[in-house]
Amino acid sequence: MDYMKLLKRANDLKPKNLLSGERFEPPQADIIYSGNKTVIVNFGKIASAMRREKKHMAKYLFKELAAPGDISGNELIILSKLPRSIIRKKIESYMKEYVICPQCGKPDTKIVKEDGIVYLKCEACGAKKFIKKL
Ligand SMILES: [Zn+2]
Repeated sequence: MDYMKLLKRANDLKPKNLLSGERFEPPQADIIYSGNKTVIVNFGKIASAMRREKKHMAKYLFKELAAPGDISGNELIILSKLPRSIIRKKIESYMKEYVICPQCGKPDTKIVKEDGIVYLKCEACGAKKFIKKL
């Protein structure tokens, strides 16, 4: 095998995300206001990028934002007028708590339940993290 081939092989074997410093970035929340309501227009897209159920993420946001709301198709309606920066921060916290593996930093995780205990399980490195029930 020649040198170039070896080099290419070495590159293929590298975990790309870690080396390039590339981070998982879900779509930024698109937020509009309607009266006293705050609407996340692309909520469905964000949830599917994180591979989480809309319901699960919505529950977290309602709790964290201390405001009730509804899922309407791909939109999330929050029955309170809240600054965009706070909502985006909460989505980021959700991602850290319920999506990103604390071991390898990848978003390839699943929420699994074992004996009534909920874990975040990483499909990339196998790490398990205990998470709070919503
Ligand atoms: Zn991992």
